[in-house]
Amino acid sequence: MKKDIHPEYVDATATCACGNTFKTKSNKAEIRVDICSECHPFFTGSEKIVDSAGRVEKFKKKYGIK
Ligand SMILES: [Zn+2]
Repeated sequence: MKKDIHPEYVDATATCACGNTFKTKSNKAEIRVDICSECHPFFTGSEKIVDSAGRVEKFKKKYGIK
């Protein structure tokens, strides 16, 4: 029997590179992210992390963040 194919998702605390933290779901209790709604250029007006925009959209979709 194979096991651990589907990770068990738990309430997780995500810590962003900007220092912000927020609750999400993950297979780990603590995760680190490079960007969040607090430091996304769309919210901050900054373009310093434009290259990450596509990843943010994926991240948001994955975790259902609006
Ligand atoms: Zn952030």
